[in-house]
Order: sequence, then C-alpha cells, then structure tokens
Amino acid sequence: MAAAAAEVGRGEEAGAEQDAETTAVSKRRGRFLDIMPRGGRESLLKPMLRCESLAKSYRSGGRELTVLKNITFLLESGGFLAIAGPSGSGKTTLLGLLAGLDRPTAGRVVLDGQDLTELDEDQRSLLRGQKVGFVFQSFQLISTLTARENVQVPLELRGEEAEQRADELLERVGLAGRGHHYPAQLSGGEQQRVALARAFSHRPRILFADEPTGNLDAATGASVIDLMVELNRELATTLVLVTHDPDLASRAHRVLRLRDGAVVADTTS
Ligand code: ADP
Ligand code: MG
Repeated sequence: MAAAAAEVGRGEEAGAEQDAETTAVSKRRGRFLDIMPRGGRESLLKPMLRCESLAKSYRSGGRELTVLKNITFLLESGGFLAIAGPSGSGKTTLLGLLAGLDRPTAGRVVLDGQDLTELDEDQRSLLRGQKVGFVFQSFQLISTLTARENVQVPLELRGEEAEQRADELLERVGLAGRGHHYPAQLSGGEQQRVALARAFSHRPRILFADEPTGNLDAATGASVIDLMVELNRELATTLVLVTHDPDLASRAHRVLRLRDGAVVADTTS
C-alpha cells in the first residue's frame, strides 16, 4: 500500500514508466486504437482520461437501481469534454466516478495513467490533491475564510507558499483587490470566480465542473465558461464540464450525451 501511495506521489516523474505502461495497455486493448486517428499525435496515445465499461448501481429497499451502464470513452490531454443530458440522467454520478470521488460497480477509470479502481480512498484523495480540480454548482467556498484564503487552501495542503499565487489567480479571474472579502460579501458570479481560482491554484492536470453556471444568470454564467475555456488553453488543463445547457455544451470540443445512464450521442466538433 505504501508503495502504491509512493507511486502516486511521484507524479510527473512517473512519465517514462507510464509511457511503457500506456503503450502496453494500448496494445492489449487494440479496440481503443481503432477509434484514434492514424498517425495521430502522441498525446492521443496517452489519454488524460480513459473510461472503460463503467457502471454504477445502488441498492435501495432491496432493489437494484442502475444509474450508469457501459460508459466507454477516451479523452486526450488538454481536451474539453462536455457531459450533457437531462436531470437524473447520471451526469453527477459519472463525474464523481471520473474524479475518483466515488467507486464504480463495474469497469474502470484511468486518470493520467493511474487506474483509480486500484487505489483506496486515501490514495485517491492524494491523487486528487495532486492532479484534480473541482468546481461545483453551489461554489462551496468556506464561508469563514476570505477569498484569498479560500484560493490558498489547495496550495497549503501541498505545503506551498500560497499568498502570492492566490493574489495572481484572483487578478486573473478579475477579482484583484477583492482577496480580503468573505464569500457573503461577493455576488454569485464573483464567488464562482473565486472557486475557479481555487480549482486552478494547484495547477491540476484535469478540471471537473458540475453545472458551474447553474446558480448564475445567463450572462454571468457565459463569462465563467469563457474564463474556464481561457484557462483550459493557457494552462493546457483538460476540462470536463457537466451541463444541461446545450449552448454551453456546444463550447466543448466534444459532447457526450447521457440518457437514463447510457451514452446516447458522442459528437466531436
Ligand atoms: P444528474 O446529475 O444527471 O441530474 P445524478 O447522477 O445526480 O443525475 O443521478 C442519477 C440517478 O441516480 C438519479 O435517479 C438519482 O436519484 C440516482 N442516485 C444518485 N445518487 C444516488 C444514491 N447515492 N443512492 C441512490 N440513488 C442515487
Ligand atoms: Mg447533477
């Protein structure tokens, strides 16, 4: 277990072994190569996210409720995927599995070369701290901390010098000079910008956002998405956005549409 944790902790340095591992996996799973362009970029052979035959069901009142069934896709590093579908179609459940917040009933998720189903909860938590950013519909800022302190949290968890980076990020999201304000002193759009700055603060490889504009008016929501797209480009962060808004989904390079827990459309623009 300690060895596995150390494995996760090596982060970027694990690159060489990961290349070999990914190539071996790609060879074993030839069907995945079939859906990649011939002579495609190296990055396509090293997906940021690999989701294989993923299923999730819950047992309640003696009955089994299937929430997700047979979800399979690859997302390349730096890509922008939207997951769309009506309320109750399984979007949040899928995002939780992809981000390692929850465990699947069947199938597996490989995030940046690491099979999440091989990790226990502590190891997944460690991996999230190193590689994953998360933005929620309800912002989820800590109300007793200022904007600057909220942005600093993920950095301090890693023992990093945080104040300067927090101020740079707040400036980047258009909130220079607001770092000393508490969440209650900020509008919804401003709070979500703070949440975005927090999500990007530890330079995650991949950012998951669950209906991040759901509590915002259309114009403010669009500006939050603009900011996510800019940060996606600037920092080469892979982006996975859950939304039931078709306009927002159309901003992504690719849209996975869910209905009743299954993928009913997978479109690339
Ligand atoms: P969406 O985000 O697309 O609205 P969800 O992923 O939240 O959908 O939920 C999909 C389905 O899974 C819903 O029918 C929901 O009631 C059910 N569900 C989600 N979490 C649980 C749980 N912990 N136990 C039982 N059912 C759940
Ligand atoms: Mg949801």
